[in-house]
Amino acid sequence: MANTKYVFVTGGVSSSLGKGIIAASLAKLLQARGYRVTIQKLDPYINVDPGTLNPYEHGECYVTDDGAETDLDLGHYERFLNTATSQANNVTTGRIYQSVIEKERRGEFLGKTVQVVPHITNEIKERIQILGKSGDYDIVITEIGGTVGDIESLPYIESVRQLKWELGDNNALVIHLTLIPYLSAAGELKTKPTQHSVKTLMESGIKADILVCRTEHELSEDLRKKLALFCNVKQEAVIQSIDASTIYDVPNLMLEEGLDTVVLNRLVLRDDDEPNLEKWNDFLLRHKNPKHEVTIGLIGKYVELQDSYKSILEAFIHAGAENEVRVNIESIHSEYIDDKTIKNKIAHLDGVLVAPGFGERGIEGKIKAVQYAREHKIPFFGICLGMQMAVIEYSRNVLGLKDACSIEVDEKAVSPVISLMEEQKSITDMGGTMRLGAWDCELVEGSKVFEAYGKTQISERHRHRYEYNNVYKDQLEKAGLKTTGTNPKTGLVEIVEVEGHPWFVGVQYHPEYKSTVANPHPLFVAFTKAAMIFSKNKVSAKVTQS
Ligand code: GLN
Repeated sequence: MANTKYVFVTGGVSSSLGKGIIAASLAKLLQARGYRVTIQKLDPYINVDPGTLNPYEHGECYVTDDGAETDLDLGHYERFLNTATSQANNVTTGRIYQSVIEKERRGEFLGKTVQVVPHITNEIKERIQILGKSGDYDIVITEIGGTVGDIESLPYIESVRQLKWELGDNNALVIHLTLIPYLSAAGELKTKPTQHSVKTLMESGIKADILVCRTEHELSEDLRKKLALFCNVKQEAVIQSIDASTIYDVPNLMLEEGLDTVVLNRLVLRDDDEPNLEKWNDFLLRHKNPKHEVTIGLIGKYVELQDSYKSILEAFIHAGAENEVRVNIESIHSEYIDDKTIKNKIAHLDGVLVAPGFGERGIEGKIKAVQYAREHKIPFFGICLGMQMAVIEYSRNVLGLKDACSIEVDEKAVSPVISLMEEQKSITDMGGTMRLGAWDCELVEGSKVFEAYGKTQISERHRHRYEYNNVYKDQLEKAGLKTTGTNPKTGLVEIVEVEGHPWFVGVQYHPEYKSTVANPHPLFVAFTKAAMIFSKNKVSAKVTQS
């Protein structure tokens, strides 16, 4: 195809309507019809990337192969499309300004006054078109973060207006996602907020081409007509997005509503083949018809906010479907785990996952959880900080290094089993300076991880500053904490396993970022399976006892 087509997704009425899921679902349908699609997220905040943001502020920070710290919506894009995203797929206002200011310092604007229009808007337009110009995609879907009318979104909205005009009607369109609230006192769905939101968009010179309406109740034919008339869109372009029990239902719901056909017709693209969703629907069938059930404890310190561990929760959905098992996740706050509470919190679990994290808070609870899982032979999975806690626990309780610790928690630790790499020691800037992105890892044959991946060479994504301290490697290995994955270039330990335990794996990287519907992550699949076996053994042990 000669030129790339652009779809912009804006939001109105309220935040958190799920623009990312709508964008990902549309992309899925277009991909299932054979189009090459990618999605981009533009975020109107001033942080250069979300890497320095607290999970309570922004949910999980998602990491790409090329080491970009990004918005969690990119995780949805990868999970739905099974294609990798990159730095170009997430742009913030901070990054836009940073690059314009750097250009100004280099004198690239030749003495001109540097202004929001045209310099910031040109930079935004350039960033939007980078993916399109690569020649890798037929359609680029760009999601504009925030809600129409926000002061901070204005330069983005203006850039979309300009691009729509420059590219022409057949090459660009705007989908506006809004909310149709239900007033229970009146027993009615209300369209007025949507009308106002469309009007606000119009004041910025943009006519929405398609309305996607989030609603708790079915939209009647009359209501759709009314929305079309007052919001200036064709009736078939009023798309209902009703609450779904799982986000993975949304592509099918959008297909029923004809979102993909409306988009294709408007962009003058063929819409003859039906989308091939065979694999997707097979996953849904397995996800919705589990044959078993397991309960896994997610031990973390940001557990109050679902979004903090988004990719982990989704990876369990993929692994659950693969094993035909319902995975119940019990979120357990590590700060509340101590000698008194541990049994109550952990003993009934079929698997223990100690989550990634930063800083000192809740560390001791995590170490106790590792110890309980190790001693009671409950399947254990440690991710990043969780792996580091496993190393500390083993050093303290098996090796006898009572003061074993991480430099992150105690800078002067006497036994720093988790320490800082030389090149990290001189770093003062916190943003974008961790070990980030894809790194190779070589697995030991015969290990649990080798069994799961079925190969020795893997590549996984990282996001951490601290590392397993190789000074302690021999002692730990001898004591039974085996290194089963190593970085071939640096010799850094990436995976540890406890010998003789049914399934005890700690990984320095983040496997959850690479789990997708089409490719559930092998370690999540293996851990879930181990939890299933553990749970079945518990049941049969009970039957034998009685
Ligand atoms: N805080 C640890 C480090 O920086 C672990 C990071 C993580 O869990 N992502 O190394």
